[in-house]
Amino acid sequence: MIRENIEKVEKRISQACREAGRSREEVTLIAVSKTKPVSMLKEAYDWGCRDFGENKVQELTEKYEVLPKDIRWHMIGHLQRNKVKYIVGKVFLIHSVDSLRLAEEISKESVKKKVTTQILIEVNAAGEQSKFGIRDTEEVIRLVEQAGSLPGIAVRGLMTVAPYVESGEENRQYFQALKQLSVDIMRKNIDNVNMDVLSMGMTGDYEVAVSEGAGYVRVGTGIFGERDYGSPAGEK
Ligand SMILES: *Cc1c(COP(=O)(O)O)cnc(C)c1O
Repeated sequence: MIRENIEKVEKRISQACREAGRSREEVTLIAVSKTKPVSMLKEAYDWGCRDFGENKVQELTEKYEVLPKDIRWHMIGHLQRNKVKYIVGKVFLIHSVDSLRLAEEISKESVKKKVTTQILIEVNAAGEQSKFGIRDTEEVIRLVEQAGSLPGIAVRGLMTVAPYVESGEENRQYFQALKQLSVDIMRKNIDNVNMDVLSMGMTGDYEVAVSEGAGYVRVGTGIFGERDYGSPAGEK
């Protein structure tokens, strides 16, 4: 079932790329495997997936230990400062940096481990109360500047979690806004800051996100099926 699902998602990403005049290589599909057992990740891995997204530190590190080392792990969930030390050196990209204090902690831990950690700044593009991420544009720019000056960190771009909607089209405005913000920041030529990565689009809206310039789409349900948060393996 997972293979068929990935193939379906792949086909739709390719189609969206074609329609937008983009090359398929510009978009990386992250298989969002939170709450799912290792056996399912293995199936996706065997199909060819190498990018996996998790939103809990403990779950990410547990899966990291038992799965092949050529996997690129993406931390996509809210990250507490006291847990940063467990994932620096293991994660390929942290998508969810939304405060200077968190960026400082990632920097400190990265310097200690002599690695450079790639990060994205999480933007709350729709301004939803229930969501993490920075709402105020000026504040986003300030954090990008401040994070860019920290050692051990490479700011690569922006990430957003769009609202849950019936039709992905409803979120096009937020993807456009994120893209525009990244262009505005790029124009500032801030030292040590790249804005070439946009992480946006989930199961309900990834094709729209691709058409608006997403570099990473994060698809969970569309690959692994509905999540059961009530099961022992599940987490809230
Ligand atoms: C769970 C999650 C996803 C995947 O959501 P689906 O709708 O299942 O594709 C993507 N991004 C983030 C940040 C998530 O927490």
